[in-house]
Amino acid sequence: MPHLSVRARLAFWHTSILAALLGASAVVSVAFLRQSSARRTDGDLTDTWSAFRSELISERSELPSLALATADALASFRLNNVAIVIFDAKNAIIGMKALGESQGDVGDFAPAFHPEEVPRIVGGRFGDASAFATIPDSEGGYRIFSAPVYLPKERTTLVVARSLHQENEAIEEAIATFAIIAPIVLALAFLGGWFLAGRSLSPVGAMSERAARISASTTSERLPVVNPRDELGRLAIVLNDLLDRLAEALSQQRRFMTDASHELRTPVAVVRAVTDVVLSQDTRTVSDYRDALDTVQREAGRLSRVVDDLFLLSRADIGERPVRRRSLYLSEVIAESTGDLAPLATERGITIESNLPDEGCPFEGDEELLDRVFGNLVDNGIKYSPDGSRILVTLADRGSWYEASVDDEGPGVAADLQDRIFERFFRVNDDDFSVPGAGLGLSIVRWAVEAHGGTIAVGKSARGGARFTVVLPKNARPEGTISG
Ligand code: ADP
Repeated sequence: MPHLSVRARLAFWHTSILAALLGASAVVSVAFLRQSSARRTDGDLTDTWSAFRSELISERSELPSLALATADALASFRLNNVAIVIFDAKNAIIGMKALGESQGDVGDFAPAFHPEEVPRIVGGRFGDASAFATIPDSEGGYRIFSAPVYLPKERTTLVVARSLHQENEAIEEAIATFAIIAPIVLALAFLGGWFLAGRSLSPVGAMSERAARISASTTSERLPVVNPRDELGRLAIVLNDLLDRLAEALSQQRRFMTDASHELRTPVAVVRAVTDVVLSQDTRTVSDYRDALDTVQREAGRLSRVVDDLFLLSRADIGERPVRRRSLYLSEVIAESTGDLAPLATERGITIESNLPDEGCPFEGDEELLDRVFGNLVDNGIKYSPDGSRILVTLADRGSWYEASVDDEGPGVAADLQDRIFERFFRVNDDDFSVPGAGLGLSIVRWAVEAHGGTIAVGKSARGGARFTVVLPKNARPEGTISG
């Protein structure tokens, strides 16, 4: 039924299960009815048999022959919906009678009940022991009970028979009534199921209608939550949470695009302005050209750094920049990245002090990314510290992790901005162009540290400036890691 709607399928299954239950209970009820009516019939037969037996014994004690005694007993016995047949010891019929008929006649038991057939039908036990048997016919047949009666001088076999037609008719009537009622019940059940399924599924219709209206330009739309406690309500809540996250991701993406284009536009605008000015006059001094080219070179460098950072971040986002781990010494990596920045520090009279353990600190990590982490932190230290100040770089082995820190004597980072500075394009003084940067460095640093399973935090340094602390666990193997 894959082409049917959920509503139709629910109603169909609901009705099918009810039909199966009704069918099964009908079969069980009919079987039970048949069994109890058979038990009642057999009880009636044996009661009648015993009563007639007493009658026969008493008549025989008074009359000279069995034939006379039988005839008298039959004449005086009140028949109760049964036929009685008496056989002699040779299985020949001595007498018989049925309801409302004269002796020697099976009356309304005719034509299916043939008394002379009884010995054959009962079989070998006839005349020796008691036995029940059923004579079938198209309307339910007859039930017979036969057992020997021992009189003082002879043995007879007394047979009582009862028609099963009435019981059969009652059962058939019950079946016919059921056959009429069951389809009506099932039809009502289908309608009820259809109505209930429609009611319970109506929130789904409302949800899909609303979902169809949600697009990239209508991210504030949410699915209706009819009842937050039922399954569909919970589904709507979960989907709304998902929409919240998608909307947040979309708006982050948009912010990123706006910030990125802003960062790219600035150097391009500077280059255009400088070249326009230089080219606006036919003759320029060599020094004018040199100054202009210096600016172009600086801005091109800035542009390419921003493009490189953006490229690295977007590759990290889509998982295309895996962490390539190999064995290295952390103190060597830190010493190298610090060493590379020494000329920059010297230019500003800044001293970089290092406190790195002699053991080297073996670590499984991505050298390029770790170099980026410590290079960026020390570079920021130089950028945001006053001339002539000091920067302290330390590394310590803490058992199952390494802890590295970079302290400076700059302005530090205000407590409420300590999380934000790791966001993409966030700069504390965004319009201060004296310090170069696009606000991408720390977001790359945080990604690289976390890709190693570590954490980074900023706080206040004892030296008055900022203190960046990096924790790198020795045994972390986060996903997206390649050994090599
Ligand atoms: P960028 O340095 O290119 O602006 P970063 O992501 O490296 O970008 O840093 C983000 C911001 O965090 C910086 O603009 C600066 O305001 C602040 N910051 C970073 N390092 C320091 C530091 N050592 N001292 C004070 N502020 C800092």
